[in-house]
Amino acid sequence: MSVEELRTIRTDLQKRYDALCAAGLKLDLTRGKPGADQLDLSAPMLSLPGDDYISPSGTDCRNYGGVTGLPELRAIFGEMFATGAERTIALGNASLQVMHDIIVFSLLHGNVDSEKPWGAQPIKFLCPVPGYDRHFGITEKYGIEMINIAMNPNGPDVDACAQLLADDPSIKGMWLVPTYSNPTGYTVTDDVARRLLALDAAADFRVFWDNAYAVHTLVDAAPAPLPILDMAEEAGHQNRVYVFGSTSKITFAGAGVAALASSQANLDWFTRNISAATIGPDKINQLRHVQFLRDADGVRAHMARHREIIAPKFQLVLDILEDRMGDAKIASWTSPEGGYFISLDVVDGTAARTIALAKDAGIALTAAGSAFPYKTDPHDRNIRIAPTFPTTDELRTAMDGVATCALLSATEVLLDAQ
Ligand code: PMP
Repeated sequence: MSVEELRTIRTDLQKRYDALCAAGLKLDLTRGKPGADQLDLSAPMLSLPGDDYISPSGTDCRNYGGVTGLPELRAIFGEMFATGAERTIALGNASLQVMHDIIVFSLLHGNVDSEKPWGAQPIKFLCPVPGYDRHFGITEKYGIEMINIAMNPNGPDVDACAQLLADDPSIKGMWLVPTYSNPTGYTVTDDVARRLLALDAAADFRVFWDNAYAVHTLVDAAPAPLPILDMAEEAGHQNRVYVFGSTSKITFAGAGVAALASSQANLDWFTRNISAATIGPDKINQLRHVQFLRDADGVRAHMARHREIIAPKFQLVLDILEDRMGDAKIASWTSPEGGYFISLDVVDGTAARTIALAKDAGIALTAAGSAFPYKTDPHDRNIRIAPTFPTTDELRTAMDGVATCALLSATEVLLDAQ
């Protein structure tokens, strides 16, 4: 394209951008929150359990006790995550808190395979990128050094992990969202998981297998969850994996139930530690989930109703991206089959500028670099799009605006380079 042509395009885009700013928008594509219509799907739960407060196995849920949660819910989670009821416990309202607490317990006491507390020495975590900002927020808060690992369509770059782990016993953990990862939507394959589990690493190295989107499919069926605890056992590292999940994006975000699955030794260690903080989880909320969801099939049927609401929103975003940016080839994006996000890569060096332009036009995007440790995107190119919360009309306007901002930023860079 000649400089003249580029200038003409930029002038057109600038006009389009000025019109966008003049529209006085106030739109938000930042957080992956369910829309109100999705929350309505679980409305019947608000009147449960009513007078029916004795669990099927006879627990009076109004009273204290049962730190590992209701067996009926453990069975549902155990099937959802292919971890089995025995090795799966049902906890409080947020899986993120469980991850946080496990890291704090490990820093203070070490885990079951540690020779000394993690906090007694500088330690590191492997961080597949782009990844979940709140994971990186926990490790940053506690001074744990984070190392970027590429997240590929089949999972993290295991060769890079192998090299780092072999040389460095101070690497104690790894974040990983195995199904419909945040924000790429990528799913870890059986092969990558097996290789990861077999790697030589410090005895107290742990994979934080955050299966937050295990059942959140946008296609006919979610991939079968990998029996990751069995696989860890087969690899001779039975304590290596903590599996996390929750019903936050199944029922009510922030008022759901969290799950933790791991080896018996790890679960005993966790319950011993958490028992200093709580006599037990909110069993009334757990019971309400059991009554509403019934079983793993009930969860899948419920998720199909979510899919009906959100799949068209994902499609809309993809259509707008293709329509506005497909020809220009200045951006690439993921086409996830599940999860809550689309990961958009714009021209290197223009993500922050695109996000700033959008902000000035009244469109809030997740802050530049959010999907990377230390909020630093080494290429300044990644933007996380969260399509679920806005209405379809809002989403259409916002995405069209984002495309204008990305194209304008790209033409600026191209013209600067002339
Ligand atoms: N893990 C991932 C990968 C997530 O995307 C989210 C929500 N954005 C969470 C955990 C939070 O889950 P919870 O509400 O159970 O803390």
